[in-house]
Amino acid sequence: MTEHHWETRAVHPPVIGPDASRPLGVPIYQGHLFAFDDAAAMAEAFEGPDGAFIYGRMGNPTVRSLERAVADLEGGAGALAAASGMGAITTVLTALLRSGDHVIAQSSLYGGTHGLLHDLADRWGVAVTHVPGDDPDAVRAALRPETRVLYLETIANPSTHVADVSALAGAVRGTGVLTVVDNTFTPVLCRPLLQGADVSVHSVTKYLGGHADVVGGAAAFADPDVHRRVWRHGLDVGATAAPHSAWLVLRGMATLAMRIERQSRTTLDLARRLEAHPAVASVAYPGLPGHPQHVLATRALDGGYGAVLSFEPAGGRDAGRAFIESVRLASLATSLGDVSTLVMHPASTSHRRLDAAGLAAAGIGEATVRIAPGLEHPDDLWNDIEQALAKAAP
Ligand SMILES: *Cc1c(COP(=O)(O)O)cnc(C)c1O
Repeated sequence: MTEHHWETRAVHPPVIGPDASRPLGVPIYQGHLFAFDDAAAMAEAFEGPDGAFIYGRMGNPTVRSLERAVADLEGGAGALAAASGMGAITTVLTALLRSGDHVIAQSSLYGGTHGLLHDLADRWGVAVTHVPGDDPDAVRAALRPETRVLYLETIANPSTHVADVSALAGAVRGTGVLTVVDNTFTPVLCRPLLQGADVSVHSVTKYLGGHADVVGGAAAFADPDVHRRVWRHGLDVGATAAPHSAWLVLRGMATLAMRIERQSRTTLDLARRLEAHPAVASVAYPGLPGHPQHVLATRALDGGYGAVLSFEPAGGRDAGRAFIESVRLASLATSLGDVSTLVMHPASTSHRRLDAAGLAAAGIGEATVRIAPGLEHPDDLWNDIEQALAKAAP
């Protein structure tokens, strides 16, 4: 381009890519426009999620690296990355549903998802029936000709109720109903697509990212046609993942398997110590033999029982509040899946809009504390928990 003026050359800098070598780390492709030499190739690129890159909302090399990594993690045919977990869930559900359709959903759901389903019912005419997460007969009984989606979460928050994905997905097999599973709490440990689900969604803000520095979402698909359908609708929704966010999630995913294994082990250790503590009324963690779905969790999860527990300090709501204000090493913060330990009090924060009956139905007590252990040494965490329990004791 030396024949052009420098102003023109400033707009058309040479794009330098590696030639004889290749980058081992995934590069961040911040550029969002891709030019073609061939008009037919450009037209073809508009056809699906795996085509040549055109425009950032339709695909980006860094984002596609993340999509391939998530598809691989979940054993899916493909995946879609999104700007947030709710972006992924909204894109999937609004792609698969139209007014007049019916959804069967697990009764205890992430607050944002609960709100979305409520909104779809209230303003878009999508009927929703709630069922327990472990009863395939309840799913069969709820089926209607217009049912399109069965929606589950592998482990409910903060009750730690475990869904029987294979039995529930099995209950709708052959009916045309698609099973969508929120696998945010159990990446690596559970592969819903291999248990008969059609879509596995994630808030990658949690374990996949893992370092409290990125918000993102993803959905993996068993069937390429469902992937294409959701991708096409996603172009209109526009909850697109940004390249830098995708890069951060990819960096987190490199250590995901080690982190989730270690965090699950620490959580089991803390759950056992809490259970034996006199100032603790009850502990909910699927790894404890007394948990109502312990046997199911052992069958459905591979390599650990997840890294979230909840417990009830003796002494009611005041004890719960006093505990979360007394921890020193753990942080009082929402979210989970971070390298550092997070505690929260659902009744006064994430679930504050529920009345006593609603709290009970969600398996939450007035005193319930949720702990999402990080990568600190378990003994340091236990010392922190013990001193906070002493301060919270009635
Ligand atoms: C956090 C979370 C979401 C929402 O994800 P965002 O990235 O915050 O939008 C959805 N489902 C579950 C289970 C979550 O924990």
